[in-house]
Amino acid sequence: MPGAIAPGPDVTLQVRVNGTVIAVPLERYVLGAALSEVTPTGEAPAIVSRVYEVQAVIARTYALSHRRRHAKEGFDLCDDTHCQLYQPDRIRTSSFARAAEAAVDRTRGRVLRVGAAIIDALFHADCGGHTTTPATAWAGTNAPYLPAREDQVPGARHRAWTFEASMADWRTLLNGDPRTSVGTRLTRIVVDATGPGDRVTALRLVGARERVVTGEVLRSVVSAARGPRSVMSTRFTASQTPSGFRLTGTGFGHGVGLCQVGAIARARRGDSLADILGHYYPGARLGG
Ligand SMILES: [Zn+2]
Ligand SMILES: [Zn+2]
Repeated sequence: MPGAIAPGPDVTLQVRVNGTVIAVPLERYVLGAALSEVTPTGEAPAIVSRVYEVQAVIARTYALSHRRRHAKEGFDLCDDTHCQLYQPDRIRTSSFARAAEAAVDRTRGRVLRVGAAIIDALFHADCGGHTTTPATAWAGTNAPYLPAREDQVPGARHRAWTFEASMADWRTLLNGDPRTSVGTRLTRIVVDATGPGDRVTALRLVGARERVVTGEVLRSVVSAARGPRSVMSTRFTASQTPSGFRLTGTGFGHGVGLCQVGAIARARRGDSLADILGHYYPGARLGG
């Protein structure tokens, strides 16, 4: 049972970094991944410490539950967002390296489990105010510890975004992918259905051809052309403008599991490590 591997100081991961596979002791990997995945700029030292405890537990849990993910290619994990960001240079260069190292030591060997199994500790940058489920986000498999939950914490800086383009630009964007290709005309973009956490689950693109896609398909099509900071999440509404269409949304990322914006706000109000993890992964136990 791969989910039940006991973490220990002797675990070594084979990580592909910039194309080269290197052996990295687990806790060293956790430090590099935590520093790569969160940068709590401007936060007080106590908050920085708590944020890195949270990210260290997530990084360790994720590494052990996804170990062997690249087994067919001869290593465990890659250094990209496909697995977790892992930029080991940050251990040398980040001004948070010492705080993160202390947080990794304090949480050494601790992972999140349900029963004996290590959970899939998914996380994202910003839920926009409400997390969602794997089934809603990417037609994935739901788990009781990955619910859609409101994430309203005083002081949480969930972001709002808009993405606007002219009719002609929208047509070009949509016609760039067979899943959203509307042909020579585009007349409407309509949200037909939303799922838990107000994620768009059915978006109707009316043109020379009519397409109905998930919000995630639209996000990936637009992101491929305009980058990840264009359509930042699937938590949006659509409206017509004089020259084209506008999406108005909140959040950044897939919205499943822990929200980093919410976790930082919880750290600021003094929530414990267990409280923060318990909100986003209810029912999971923090242990060895
Ligand atoms: Zn990978
Ligand atoms: Zn949130």
